Amino acid sequence: MNSGLPLGLMMRCGAQEDRMNVNLEYTPASGGLCWCGSGKAYGCCHEAIERRMEEMRRQGHVVPTRAMLKTPAQIAKIRESCRVNMAVLDAVAERIREGMTTAEIDRIVSERTAELGGVPAPLGYQGYPFSVCTSVNDQVCHGFPSEEFELEEGDIVNVDCSTILDGYFSDSSRMFCVGEIDEDTQKLVDVARECVQRGLEQVRPWGHLGDVAEAIWRHAEANGFSVVREIGGHGVGLEFHEDPYVSYITKKGTDMVLVPGMIFTIEPMINMGDPDVIVYEDNDWEIYTEDGYPSAQWEVMVLVTEDGHEVLCW
Ligand SMILES: [Zn+2]
Repeated sequence: MNSGLPLGLMMRCGAQEDRMNVNLEYTPASGGLCWCGSGKAYGCCHEAIERRMEEMRRQGHVVPTRAMLKTPAQIAKIRESCRVNMAVLDAVAERIREGMTTAEIDRIVSERTAELGGVPAPLGYQGYPFSVCTSVNDQVCHGFPSEEFELEEGDIVNVDCSTILDGYFSDSSRMFCVGEIDEDTQKLVDVARECVQRGLEQVRPWGHLGDVAEAIWRHAEANGFSVVREIGGHGVGLEFHEDPYVSYITKKGTDMVLVPGMIFTIEPMINMGDPDVIVYEDNDWEIYTEDGYPSAQWEVMVLVTEDGHEVLCW
């Protein structure tokens, strides 16, 4: 439990009288127990982490607030929500086919989520009228499911699914290819997935969100694609969308420092053509590529751990 702690802190672990001498903006809960509810003394739990955060903040880095660090109990509940979300996407994966309308995908998500005891997070969120987003071809994200829209051979569709279970939120999305798709489009779908993998490889404590971003945009650009600039990922778990905002166009060593307990999404939108996007004015939700070329996106939820990361939802 103390892996990676400086020796001095390990030796002081449990010596609660020392807590009075700790000069931090972060303070332990009464009784010397850690605020995170682990049941351990602060000095054995979050003290070393918060000392390092404070040190980095003084050096000019952007560090998360304590509220952005999930507690062990919260992580356990979020993990359960993620299990439901993945099962719902599995149900879509089993049934999605040519000739199906995107409204049918909405029904699958709605029914499967309810069967598993959850609630679709998008429904009613800031007025969003469906249980899921289905974004096809040049739709970048927030595509409305529709009775009029039938999936055809050659289409690519992003199904973005989010669940509330016992008040805890999960969020992930997958790409589905309908029948045979052309070679360039297949490459776009594959590279979008690889971008998430490259980003994940950068998720480790005391790195930066910019490390994740640069790995992503470099891989996209190396393959001749572009990354949407205006829309990014987000913290998630206690709310649908929490801080931090997660950009995929920033540089290595910049942006927020990654600290164990943070949970956020990696979900870059990769365009075959230019990065510019437009909002469909009729509903103010659906986002399209401006040049009409296709866009692809995969989304995972990741937890920063003490020695790296854990993918919670995909
Ligand atoms: Zn703690």
